[in-house]
Amino acid sequence: MDSQATTILKEKFGYDDFRPGQAKAIDRVLNGENTLVLMPTGGGKSLCYQVPALLLPGVTVVVSPLIALMKDQVDALNENGIAATFINSTITYQEMAHRLDMAAAGEVKLLYLAPERLDNPEFVQQLGELNISLLAIDEAHCISQWGHDFRPSYLNLQTIAGQLPSHPAVIALTATATSRVADDICARLAIPDAGVVSTGFARSNLSFQVVRDQDKDTYLLEYLKLNPDHSGIIYCSTRKEVERLANLLAKHHYTVAHYHGGMSDAERAANQEDFLFDRKPIMVATNAFGMGIDKSNVRFVIHAQAPGDLESYYQEAGRAGRDGLDSDAILLFAPKDLQIQRFFIDQSDGDDDYRQKQYSKLETMRQYGNTGECLQQFILRYFGEASQPCGRCSNCRDTREYVDVTESAQKVLSCVVRMRSRFGKGVVASVLAGANNERIRQSHLADLPTYGLLSSWRQKDITGFIDFLTAAGYLQPAAGQYPTLHVTATGAAVLRGEASVRRKQAAKARQSLPVDDGLFQQLRELRTNLAEKQGLPPYMI
Ligand code: ADP
Ligand code: MG
Ligand code: ZN
Repeated sequence: MDSQATTILKEKFGYDDFRPGQAKAIDRVLNGENTLVLMPTGGGKSLCYQVPALLLPGVTVVVSPLIALMKDQVDALNENGIAATFINSTITYQEMAHRLDMAAAGEVKLLYLAPERLDNPEFVQQLGELNISLLAIDEAHCISQWGHDFRPSYLNLQTIAGQLPSHPAVIALTATATSRVADDICARLAIPDAGVVSTGFARSNLSFQVVRDQDKDTYLLEYLKLNPDHSGIIYCSTRKEVERLANLLAKHHYTVAHYHGGMSDAERAANQEDFLFDRKPIMVATNAFGMGIDKSNVRFVIHAQAPGDLESYYQEAGRAGRDGLDSDAILLFAPKDLQIQRFFIDQSDGDDDYRQKQYSKLETMRQYGNTGECLQQFILRYFGEASQPCGRCSNCRDTREYVDVTESAQKVLSCVVRMRSRFGKGVVASVLAGANNERIRQSHLADLPTYGLLSSWRQKDITGFIDFLTAAGYLQPAAGQYPTLHVTATGAAVLRGEASVRRKQAAKARQSLPVDDGLFQQLRELRTNLAEKQGLPPYMI
């Protein structure tokens, strides 16, 4: 390892050792080699370009979509005695010109840029006049249309990276990339296979949990009661739900901030700050909140509604536990929340290709909500990473026994076959339940031999079972707007009696923990007193 880099690490950043992956990435960059860094949130990606920035002769340009945070990041660097500045839409034209001049004169080592600046050819021209040693591209998944947060401005980087007269090395960094997205980043930015530095995306301090079949409000209130003084984020899909939940929690005397796109800039900024400084430790928000939020003590991220794809889920959930302490990432899963996401996709202005892609991503989200396998493993596999069961997630800790459900599975699969794969989950469930509704009568579905085969089940349990069979790969919905079900090859093997299906015993509605209010009050006081004595905030006790 470059000994100068170690010195910089100590003297400028105050750390003794590099974290996994950092030294290798820094080495490559200092050799002028293009590099892609894949590290989980909180893994320490920033140092991979900040350390080289101080060793390379010219300026390091950092492209980041996190405009709201640029000032904070730059302030933090300045406090460490590092010359850095930023250019985004919050500064005047004169100020921009001034900052560019400073960069040209070699007075700053790091120049942070909003990607939108690159849409302006005149600006790109001016950029070309700087002596740029390194081009760092944060949140690099934004460059890929296969990613979940594609930003057209990022595409400019493909040409700019190759054409800057100073031929800087390129370092791209992200915490969420499927192998397809990673390949795309490498292709667009001329990063060789050997240039990928990956520590994997696993977050060993997060416990992933999926909560099904429970009243969400009750669950939330109980969770907060059991985890008093913890700071956390509660995500919802709609502004209306944000408002509703924030009101509900306020009514129960929790100090909550809320955040969504329908609020004024000033309101949002104030609420974000209240949350960051723990004046309001709980944030209820839409996905408009949180990109790049660097609050270290977030103990839980609860999704009250499922987002539209697993990358977004992992990124949002990953905002918990940046300090490395144990934290919860909980999804309150209800199939009807996926309909909201389906609606968003229907309404989006992407083309057909785009919609198909989103529908199939949504399908992965559904599978996540229904899978019986390790949740962390499920996520990592989606990102193309092999791993062992985590032992911490709600599935790993589910001690219920496996039950053989082959016969019920055969009934469902056979029904799907007999319905000629022309119907979705709802109709299949109605047929199995023996329902007598308009749809059934219209299509003469009551004549099927599988009609009413599961009439002793509640229809809700049948759809739940179909979801399970889908998540486990026995059934597959067609990609697209009409997710008609069909039987997969593994499903066909079950039908032929060549394979069996096991499922953890369906939960009888789980008893909620008895909570003694008096005891809680005492505990809470005890904790506050203790905190005061030690001069610590209560969440650290
Ligand atoms: P990422 O961008 O990968 O999410 P950051 O670069 O923001 O992560 O770093 C996360 C935290 O880890 C920061 O507080 C940072 O100061 C700290 N950190 C980074 N590298 C080291 C290191 N080598 N030793 C100790 N702490 C580190
Ligand atoms: Mg980062
Ligand atoms: Zn697990």
